[in-house]
Amino acid sequence: MTRFAWGAASDTGRVRQANEDSFLTVDGLFAVADGMGGHQAGEVASHLALESLQAGFTAAGTDVLVRAVEDANRILVERSTTDPELAGMGTTLVAMALVESAGRDAIGVVNVGDSRLYLLSDGNLAQITEDHSLVATMERQGRLSAAEAAVHPQRNILTRALGIDGTVLVDSWEVLPVIGDRYLICSDGLFNEVDESRIAATLRRLADPNEACRELIRLANEGGGRDNITCVIVDVVDDSGRDPKADPANRVRNSHTGGDLTVPESLEAESKAPRAPGAIRSSFTWRVGVFIAAFLFVILAGFAFIWWTGTKTWYVGVDGDKVAIFHGKPGGVLWIEPTLAEDSDLLFANVPRLAVADVQNGVEQPSLDSARSYIENLVEQNLKASTTTTLAASLGASTSSTTTTIVR
Ligand code: MG
Repeated sequence: MTRFAWGAASDTGRVRQANEDSFLTVDGLFAVADGMGGHQAGEVASHLALESLQAGFTAAGTDVLVRAVEDANRILVERSTTDPELAGMGTTLVAMALVESAGRDAIGVVNVGDSRLYLLSDGNLAQITEDHSLVATMERQGRLSAAEAAVHPQRNILTRALGIDGTVLVDSWEVLPVIGDRYLICSDGLFNEVDESRIAATLRRLADPNEACRELIRLANEGGGRDNITCVIVDVVDDSGRDPKADPANRVRNSHTGGDLTVPESLEAESKAPRAPGAIRSSFTWRVGVFIAAFLFVILAGFAFIWWTGTKTWYVGVDGDKVAIFHGKPGGVLWIEPTLAEDSDLLFANVPRLAVADVQNGVEQPSLDSARSYIENLVEQNLKASTTTTLAASLGASTSSTTTTIVR
């Protein structure tokens, strides 16, 4: 049977007036929520989300955990629409729970937002969850490097959160519990201030989960403490409740401070201080909405322009030995290649000399009709030129014969 030992800590940080983070460590269910919204709404959101999660986690299954998160979202949306004080509140939520999967123990993980679950296994730290934030999306698209994303000024803009919309997409995973593995759930106040190598080093160095949590918070405050910081550490331990990798002294402290699954701890957030007016993330909802709308508009407009220039324009060019009309841009636009619209009867060899280079490069025309007119013009010029040549030739012939005559 899988057993856990755990520790947790939360801190307001050095800049914020209130702590809008909440955490939950109870009955094999561990979670962190990072709330946002004005007039204490952020605190309400993160509390309410974790209370709902706990109430909804009625059976040990990952699907139950996902539904509990969906229920929490509905409850938040209801509260924020019925209570004007709470309008626009939202929260992230990451949770891990002991579940049963195919007849064996598993760790079910759910995530919405940009709080994170890390796994330290064999000394290596890996992020299990995927951030639902604008910078994470841009990073996945290859538009930002990890280093750029870590310091991006808009890294607090979320693409998913609880309490914003009636439906929410919940990411979920199942991980096999391995004795000696250490899990860290944390809010962005930690990883925005402390780089992952230092987080990993701290998790490796301090076996006591409470002590490790406190040290991580100290490091985050040392790094600036610009946001609330919350850490929950969960160790997978053997049946005796001990982490076999810890030294004997730490094992004792683990079993005392970490507790075990049968000892529930209450849902809590440390700070009850009044919230500062105008906290940075209070206008989250409309800003996110406007930014995403503007972002999508620019992308769609760009695609529409490329498609339009690639397919809705015409040019006169060369097709084999003939002058022809093409659909598109000479040389194509990105992935859109020009296509042959129609051939003309004009041979490229008969194009008036002054227009040869133009036609070879493609002469753009606003419509099919104007492209046809352009070719008709070339045909006319060609006719005139050949008439002139014929006239000149006959004139030349008579002149030379006259001259010849004179010379003679
Ligand atoms: Mg935060």
